[in-house]
This record gives sequence, C-alpha cells and structure tokens, in this order.
Amino acid sequence: MEITGKTKICGLIGDPVEHSMSPVMHNKAYKKLGLDYIYLPFRVAPEQLEAAVDGLRALNVCGFNVTIPHKVAVIPMLDGLDPIAEKIGAVNTVVNMDGELRGYNTDAAGFLRALLDSGTEPDGKNIVVLGAGGAARAVTYILAERDVNLTILNRREELDWAEAIAELINEDFGRPVRVLELLDECLAEALQEADILVNATSVGMSPHSEKSPVPAKLLKKDLVVFDVVYNPIDTRLLTEAKAAGARTISGIEMLIWQGALAFEKWTGREAPVGLMKKEALKMLESHED
Ligand code: NAP
Repeated sequence: MEITGKTKICGLIGDPVEHSMSPVMHNKAYKKLGLDYIYLPFRVAPEQLEAAVDGLRALNVCGFNVTIPHKVAVIPMLDGLDPIAEKIGAVNTVVNMDGELRGYNTDAAGFLRALLDSGTEPDGKNIVVLGAGGAARAVTYILAERDVNLTILNRREELDWAEAIAELINEDFGRPVRVLELLDECLAEALQEADILVNATSVGMSPHSEKSPVPAKLLKKDLVVFDVVYNPIDTRLLTEAKAAGARTISGIEMLIWQGALAFEKWTGREAPVGLMKKEALKMLESHED
C-alpha cells in the first residue's frame, strides 16, 4: 500500500517497543482489508511521555496503543476515559475523536473475548486470579461484571494491591472477593474448588520461562488454565496444566483480541482476527528460535 497524504496513522508508545507484535499484526490487517492506514512503533522514555502524547495529538494521529511502562502514567494526559479503563486505572488503547484523545482498556475486553472464544463460560464459576498488577486488575474487573466467585492471590509484600481491587469490585458489583497470599498452601486451598485459574503475574515470561507460579501437583483435569503471559506461547504453567489434563488458553489469544478490538475502534471495520493471530505467531516463533 502506498503512503499518501490521506493515509491514517496509528501507533504504539512504550519503552521498549522493538519486540512488539502489534505493528506487524495491524499493518498486515490494514493491507488485507485494503485500508489506507499505517501503524508505527514509537519508543518513548517515561520523561518524554507528556511531550509524545501532545505530539501525537498535534499530529492528529488516528489513535495509538500504550504499553509498558506508560499504561497508568498516560491517563492524566488524555482528554477522556472509557468508564472501564477508569476503574481499571490503566489504558492500552487511545482513540482520537475529533482532536480529543480518549483512553480505553482493550486488555480487559480482549481477555474476556479470548476466554469466551475458547468455549469457556465464566458465569457461575469459581475463578482464581494470580497477581494484582495491571493485567490482573483488567482481568478481575471484567470478570466481576459476570456472575463469578473470585479469589485473588498475590505476594505478601503487595497484598494491599489485591485488597484494593477486591474493595473496588465489592463497591461496584456488591461481589465479595477473597484475597489470599500467593503461597503453595493458599493456592492448594483456592484451587480445590476452582473451575478457572488465570495467571496474571509475569511469572514464567521469557527469559524466565523455566518458572511457573503454580506447583504442577496442584493442577487438575477439570480446570481451565489461562496464562496471560504470551512469550513463550507454551509457558511452563500451560505445559504442566496440559499434562494434568486441564484445558489451556495462551496469553497470545488475549493479545490478539486486545489488538483486534483496538483495530475496530480505529477503523470501524471488523478485524481479520485469524490473520492477526497468524502474523503474531509467526513473529513469536521466530523469536523462540
Ligand atoms: P505489572 O503491573 O508489573 O504486574 C506484575 C504482576 O506480577 C504483579 O502482580 C506482581 O506481583 C507479579 N509478580 C511479578 N513477579 C512475581 C513473582 N516472582 N512471584 C509472584 N508474583 C510476581 O505487569 P502487568 O502489566 O500486569 O503484566 C503482567 C503480565 O501480563 C506480563 O507478562 C505481561 O506481558 C502480560 N500481559 C499480557 C497481555 C496479553 O494481551 N496477553 C496484556 C497485558 C499484560 P507484586 O504485585 O507482588 O509485585
């Protein structure tokens, strides 16, 4: 596709951005649908974030994704927030609406789409979420909109983060959330009754792919295990869950859906999800070589 004066610009701000799969996913999707769009990565240091956001507004880009470490810091620089992004306190997608930058969290909706897409219905289920960072907050908040029983486990030093998420969910949905310490004995207790386990910590992410947040002996056949970590695709947790006979969902599915939902906000077109997945997998596999 040739770049012309009419080409619409989308992008990504983060630090680093070199390994992001988003530019390939989006640019291939634009090409497939014949859309006159381009998606560019911008490495932005934290001290340049405000200048970068003002610059993107001044350049009238169509929208942009936000990744580590800017998902929280970007919020005061935007002109408006989607209510769910506001509750989660993190933004990964920004849409330029006639000069006003509005922030969304498509990680949350992307997680839910990936879960439902795998044929897993969360309603009525006991769900255990590990972690209390940005991804965990997105996952628990979107799950709390459904009829679920939630347990969050986090490390002792940061248990108050988990308590804060639990309090928010209780206030907004009248749903009590159990908070436990991320210890093997608490995991064993929580997993006894669990239907779905979500790892929303970064444990197991490359280059520490030999790690798992859950001892293999606690994994069981009647569990659905969703690991938000997508690099590697088959984390140790997912490999051990499969070996125990559990159903598994990789973080790559969430990554694709968060991208697809951003694509739809910017272009107004249905995203070619299959193609975006194929391109992301191709790139991940080439990293793993
Ligand atoms: P974050 O805000 O930094 O949170 C990291 C979480 O991991 C915190 O809860 C932290 O616990 C926990 N953690 C880190 N090391 C740990 C350890 N050794 N033992 C126990 N807990 C540990 O990061 P994030 O943005 O939530 O991202 C978390 C993971 O999700 C990353 O791997 C990221 O790539 C992935 N992610 C995937 C997608 C997707 O589309 N698939 C989207 C967003 C994020 P403390 O609170 O105790 O520090």
